[in-house]
Amino acid sequence: MMQIAYIGLGSNLAIPHQQVLQAIQQIKALAHTTWLAESSLYLTPPWGIKEQPAFINAVVKIATDLPAHDLLDALLAIEVSQQRVRAQRYGPRTIDCDILLYADEMITTERLQVPHPFLLERAFVVIPLFEIAPALILPTGQILAEVVKKYQDENIKKFILPSEEIE
Ligand code: ADP
Ligand code: MG
Repeated sequence: MMQIAYIGLGSNLAIPHQQVLQAIQQIKALAHTTWLAESSLYLTPPWGIKEQPAFINAVVKIATDLPAHDLLDALLAIEVSQQRVRAQRYGPRTIDCDILLYADEMITTERLQVPHPFLLERAFVVIPLFEIAPALILPTGQILAEVVKKYQDENIKKFILPSEEIE
């Protein structure tokens, strides 16, 4: 049976919005997976380590027959395909693909924690997720519409694509 999953994307190296758009295309091309929705791109201040470039973030909603760990492998392969080098935790990256939610599952293994452990602590995840899933209730019972209220004043702006890139 297909499961609904939400993927969080982030980039702050090279040309961030192009890497995020490329990752969305790569997710659309995944086997056993159907694209359902994607958020706008957002321009967001760096998180964790402050002295690094701003990020572009987005969230994608899919339905997938891939088990959660296979989906993780597919996302890590997308990161590798975009030459992501893991240097520093929370540091700059060409592309980061995280499983935010997978059905109503709560998963804790060595490789995977779902819901993503920082989901609700990061405005750059909560705001794009809310854009495409305003009625979402987490497996923990938390109501996304309530959580999003505390991030209203955060500096998270919709990113407008350069006009020459709009086809
Ligand atoms: P972060 O996303 O926290 O900045 P990384 O992208 O470097 O860190 O992730 C490191 C590892 O986190 C991955 O190799 C993966 O095994 C693990 N991980 C645990 N839970 C998740 C999740 N929900 N989505 C993606 N990766 C996860
Ligand atoms: Mg990650």
